[in-house]
Amino acid sequence: MQDQFGRKIDYMRISVTDRCNLRCRYCMPEGGIDNLPMTDMLTYEEIVEVCRMAADLGITKIRLTGGEPLVRLELPKLVKMIRAIPQIQKINLTTNGVLLDRQLDALVDAGLDGLNISLDTLDREAYARTTGRDELEKVLSGIQHSLDAGLSVKVNAVLLADSFFAAPSKADAQVVPFRDPNWYSMLSLAKHHPVDLRFIELMPIGEGQQYEYFSAEVLLNEMKHRFPGLEEDYAIHGNGPAHYYKIPGFQGSIGVIEALHGKFCDACNRVRLTATGRVKPCLCYATTYDIREPLRNGDLDRVREVMELAIWKKPKEHCFEELAEISEEHKMVSIGG
Ligand code: SAM
Ligand code: SF4
Repeated sequence: MQDQFGRKIDYMRISVTDRCNLRCRYCMPEGGIDNLPMTDMLTYEEIVEVCRMAADLGITKIRLTGGEPLVRLELPKLVKMIRAIPQIQKINLTTNGVLLDRQLDALVDAGLDGLNISLDTLDREAYARTTGRDELEKVLSGIQHSLDAGLSVKVNAVLLADSFFAAPSKADAQVVPFRDPNWYSMLSLAKHHPVDLRFIELMPIGEGQQYEYFSAEVLLNEMKHRFPGLEEDYAIHGNGPAHYYKIPGFQGSIGVIEALHGKFCDACNRVRLTATGRVKPCLCYATTYDIREPLRNGDLDRVREVMELAIWKKPKEHCFEELAEISEEHKMVSIGG
């Protein structure tokens, strides 16, 4: 289906839970959030019903996200149920990777196509400090095993200034813990593994508003400086908004997503479904459309009408560069990124 600006909407991101086993500082308040009662969240059967309706409207790609999707019980079961919808061509998962090892085989058997694994640093202490949990080893093992299982793997790293990762020090709170900048150390993932390593600008939503902004432009200039052989990579890497680059000798590619100033809204193809059954046409704005109520009343015609309306009304563009206009007040953990 097309929206009012003629964009073809064929991609739906589904948040399956608001719960999470990490506390990434830019996403979740330290004390966590008040979790939704389970009865407020769509059941797997309800999610699949929405997916069937969405597929009829032209959705062919689904991404499962959260909170942390792998903390919801039996996620592979949901993947398998969605896989049975003939029009759905791709099912991907965005995860922090901590619980991946345990569930990988079941996810592959269920028909998962690929994974985005979120990881912002390879420094164990900095990881523990900024996510609240000492789980880096599990994430790295999850990445390796996903590659071994033949899945397509993208690693998503939020672009954060090194001060974000710094250990609080009595002498100087700004002490930088790394010999090299954090982004540079992260590159070793793409050097030694066939993964797309994607750096994403921090969006000024929820907790993200309080941290220093590190622009994709600065990153690119620094990469060009350190790697004069860096060149654009024109291969297709999925349908996301990243620009890709190749560094000679690296197995993987480096992606850069200008979430703030890069206006890729003209090519935006997505809507979101929240864990409580609201269709959200744009990340930047609070506007959502409830489909849980008609779904639970068995009024599928109304569900379809509301979905059509939400898609049609998708805003022309985001407004991340105008802080005052951002109406989304939820934490990213409850939106799903
Ligand atoms: N828990 C899963 C994970 O971390 O991959 C899925 C949900 S998480 C909200 C999805 C993505 O949003 C993660 O890659 C996370 O780094 C990113 N994210 C969270 N807050 C953000 C912000 N303010 N700006 C940019 N990305 C953000
Ligand atoms: Fe971190 Fe994802 Fe959890 Fe947010 S939802 S705290 S980004 S793991």
